[in-house]
Amino acid sequence: MADIQNQPKKIVYSALKPTGDLQLGNYIGALKNMVKMQDEYNCIYMVADMHSITVENLPADLRRRTYDFMALFLAIGLDPEKSILAVQSQVPQHAELAWVLNCHTQFGEASRMTQFKEKSAKAPENVNVGLFAYPTLMAADILLYQTDLVPIGKDQKQHLELARDVAQRFNTKYSPTFTIPDGFYPKQGAKIFNLLDPTAKMGKTDDNTNGVVFLLDDADTIMRKFKRAVTDCDTAIVYDETKPGISNLITIYSVFTGTPVQAVEKEFAGSNYADFKTKVGEAVVEYLRPIQTKYRDLMNNKDYLVEVMKSGAEKASRIANRTLAKVYRKIGFVQLP
Ligand code: AMP
Repeated sequence: MADIQNQPKKIVYSALKPTGDLQLGNYIGALKNMVKMQDEYNCIYMVADMHSITVENLPADLRRRTYDFMALFLAIGLDPEKSILAVQSQVPQHAELAWVLNCHTQFGEASRMTQFKEKSAKAPENVNVGLFAYPTLMAADILLYQTDLVPIGKDQKQHLELARDVAQRFNTKYSPTFTIPDGFYPKQGAKIFNLLDPTAKMGKTDDNTNGVVFLLDDADTIMRKFKRAVTDCDTAIVYDETKPGISNLITIYSVFTGTPVQAVEKEFAGSNYADFKTKVGEAVVEYLRPIQTKYRDLMNNKDYLVEVMKSGAEKASRIANRTLAKVYRKIGFVQLP
């Protein structure tokens, strides 16, 4: 995809923050769809390390996870020949456009972002300016590539609205510059819940990691986590929203074996919770095995990973530069020949 802007396919932008390790929910809710979208769209997929530092991070963890995320992107089937795979901080235009957008976003507008309010309430000791400006950096990510579609969950809807407002405002104030992006809600990927608290979404930064299955957990750990999964006081393996524990396990089994929920219920009619938990664990272990093998091969070949990052950053930069040059010209920055 040498010049994605001249191709008729729509442009998709999606990024994952390397805060916390990737877990089953990320795979089901985001990564799996990213793989599917590669053929139909021109996709730009990023490891959003710049967004990560809006919260406390150990530098060594951030560095390790950046490699991990890129290796996992490749291991699950993202293809650097089809999509642009890059690390956000390696494409400096993100920071550059973010500054311009900061100056075109009102303080009041940014103050209304509910995620900022939630995150600052959660970590009052580190309410940094970057956390406040997170949505304008996200707007820059999206607008740099003239993105048509941004796959998002409900939690990012308000940020996407802000990106659209700022883009529209810029286009009106100067002249058409940015494509106005739309939210893209791929066919409902299942929502995965924490195994120890099946009413809470499984998350990569959950406090209790025993309820979170990470994509890189070894087989024993995965089996242990499933065996200890909280279930409801019942025995039937039936999907029922009032029984979140067993329903979550049924969803996971269904997704990882490609079996419809009703067929899962039929398969395990008469079986008990303990046996079912073992089967779910085994299904996940089997599914992740080839991904983990590929991941390990890639991590043993860091030169290749760096090559992918470099080539991704170059491709992304080329597109981003075109947008940024236009923006700089319009706002009156003098550009060197
Ligand atoms: P996060 O890890 O919260 O930054 O989310 C990154 C992406 O993974 C988003 O698209 C989320 O919707 C998706 N995701 C994260 N956790 C889950 C989950 N437990 N179930 C489904 N999707 C999830």
